[in-house]
Amino acid sequence: MPDGANVPGSPVTAADSPPPGSTPPPDALVPVDGSGTARARCILAPNPGPMTLNGTNTWLIAEPGSAVAMVVDPGPDDEAHLRRVGDLAAAAGQRIGRILLTHGHLDHSAGAARLASLTGAPVLAADPALRRSPGERSGPGGSGPGGSSTGEGLGPGDVLTDAGCELRVVASPGHTADSVCLLLSADGALLTGDTVLGRGTTVIAGDGNLADYLATLDRLRALADEQQLGTLLPGHGPLLADPAGVLDFYISHRQERLAEIRAALAAGDRTGEEIVARVYADVDRSLWPFARWSVRAQLDYLAGCGELPSGISA
Ligand SMILES: [Zn+2]
Repeated sequence: MPDGANVPGSPVTAADSPPPGSTPPPDALVPVDGSGTARARCILAPNPGPMTLNGTNTWLIAEPGSAVAMVVDPGPDDEAHLRRVGDLAAAAGQRIGRILLTHGHLDHSAGAARLASLTGAPVLAADPALRRSPGERSGPGGSGPGGSSTGEGLGPGDVLTDAGCELRVVASPGHTADSVCLLLSADGALLTGDTVLGRGTTVIAGDGNLADYLATLDRLRALADEQQLGTLLPGHGPLLADPAGVLDFYISHRQERLAEIRAALAAGDRTGEEIVARVYADVDRSLWPFARWSVRAQLDYLAGCGELPSGISA
């Protein structure tokens, strides 16, 4: 199984049923580009695919009238896309002050170094290897001790105010270990990266963890009530207008999948392949390799709960 951090796209189980509040496919009909809230604007990257839905959503964040904007997830290293991000900020009278990464998957992060050199802005990420100081010449991870940049991180509870509005970091491990969400409380909005998607559900990548992910979903569900969230701004797919409903769907979907894995084990399945063939029988076979990731994450989770029979190969 490939390491999730090294795959070009973030895994998405597009065949899963859509969460409430989402717009159904086809993606071509979904007006993602240019959508957003008063302070967040989506710039859709040109990398559509089975693992990225319409493409990666790059978000430009700024208080109206602010001279500074922040970019969340530059997306792929696509020169035209990155220049469009800079041009749209400039057209609004804004310079890009910081570049933030929700996590390190390449469809979100690969363009960060190039956008940093185009704008002079630092790159902030939970993973030290992805950070970049202003003016840093080498690529991410190239300058500091242990291959880490000396750039700033994105720690839980950190508040960034460069763009004239507050963005608060909410740690959200699970999809990957380094995933974060960003709370834009002035708009009642949460930028979710790949933790919650605009369509379908996400899978647990190679360095992700289902127990962490379930805890993250519970925390985000509580946050939805506490902050009276009205919008989720995902890393792929259209924005979601019912955060509490979407998170309830994600939580129940995970529990249903776990129940299916438990039933497959009870029926005698003893390998990941056997379980995928049973549980994902209605999913296109081209997505089965990614279903294997999900099954492995679930078997690891059940092992951690002491529920795995002996002789199982995850
Ligand atoms: Zn991802």
